[in-house]
Amino acid sequence: MSAPLPVSDPTMPDSPFLAESPVYRMACRQLELAALELNLDPGIHARLKSPKRSMIVSVPVRMDDGRTHVFTGYRVQHSLTSGPSKGGLRYAPSVDFGEVAALAMWMSWKCALMNLPFGGAKGGITCDPLKLSRGELERMTRRFTEEVLPIIGVRQDVMAPDMGTDEQTMAWIMDTFSMKIGYACPEIVTGKPVEIGGCIGRREATGRGVTYCIMEAMEILKISPQGATAVVQGYGNVGSVTCAELVQRGFKIVGLGDHTGSIRNDSGIDLQELQAHLASGKPLKDFPGANPIPNSDLFTIPCTVLVPAALERQITAANASHLKCRILAEGANGPTTPDADEILSQSDIFVIPDILCNAGGVTVSYFEWVQDIQQLWWSETQVNEKLRELMRRAFHQVYDLSQKRRLPMRRAALMLGVERVALDKQRRGLFP
Ligand code: GLU
Repeated sequence: MSAPLPVSDPTMPDSPFLAESPVYRMACRQLELAALELNLDPGIHARLKSPKRSMIVSVPVRMDDGRTHVFTGYRVQHSLTSGPSKGGLRYAPSVDFGEVAALAMWMSWKCALMNLPFGGAKGGITCDPLKLSRGELERMTRRFTEEVLPIIGVRQDVMAPDMGTDEQTMAWIMDTFSMKIGYACPEIVTGKPVEIGGCIGRREATGRGVTYCIMEAMEILKISPQGATAVVQGYGNVGSVTCAELVQRGFKIVGLGDHTGSIRNDSGIDLQELQAHLASGKPLKDFPGANPIPNSDLFTIPCTVLVPAALERQITAANASHLKCRILAEGANGPTTPDADEILSQSDIFVIPDILCNAGGVTVSYFEWVQDIQQLWWSETQVNEKLRELMRRAFHQVYDLSQKRRLPMRRAALMLGVERVALDKQRRGLFP
């Protein structure tokens, strides 16, 4: 008889490479809370707690000055149970194995919650993309693609943009992959330029989805968007589109922050003037149409909606009790720690959790992948209407469960996501 195996601790990552990562531990803690609520089978829980496979690659790049710099890249596939794995590629100084693995796990719950036929994945390269030239970015992207070739594929793993990457990055990946296999393969990535098989409205999809969720929450809370106010952290793809969509609906943007600093204007920040200011290469914090404020003050501006749309772990036990918003709409992945969740659950803040709130991006990625495979193109109206329908359906599934079981919105969203992946694993069984 073999000796009994040590019992896997549900709160801790099994891999020693992930045990020290605060963000991966946070993802495990969230999974554990959902598992307790679902009464999840311990074997399935143990499988869901670890990524299915991970690849860490060296990415040597010839820099413009002739030197060679070796970057570190990651691709983590959390689950391939329900279909190819899906998730973004992030270029940022914060990128490490733990961050990418946590983001991959969250993608699994997000895809399952939205009922998309995908598992979760994420990739990244530790770098500061703002300090790299276009040529350096292209060589780095192409070499990374080459290095992860053994584990990506249309039916295996499909990348998309995330922080620090964009349509151009996806075009380089698509081209590198297509050159390798000998024919054009647009469906290897989503978030490509429309001209080479991208989907109209993909770029705006995450911010639009965030806005659709906010409008659903406003309806439940009976708040009119006319004269409502918003504070947004992050002015990248998600933050900027969310601001524009909210302003179109009557909101005022009273606070904004990005990596350069934070600004406030209680009469509303003029987005067109801000756009012109940023386009001239000046930092957000120097925008003359608002007052600079310390970054730590951004979250305490009184507002109807607070939208963190930047990095993980921004709302913590230290600042959660100081928020002065009615709705917290998580454009970013993982912006709120479990300790902060505890505090928020005692407040009357309506939380729209990340895996629901920012799911518009991957949802339109799914539309793009389907169109590429079918070679059949949708109109922008079709894309937006279908996105709205799927976002609304998921929102109400989460809201209804949270009401029925008297649970926070995040717990309900995670339960729905985790349960779908768990059921697929159970139905398929354990090989061999
Ligand atoms: N990076 C986005 C996210 O975090 C989109 C991923 C995708 O479209 O595959 O959801």
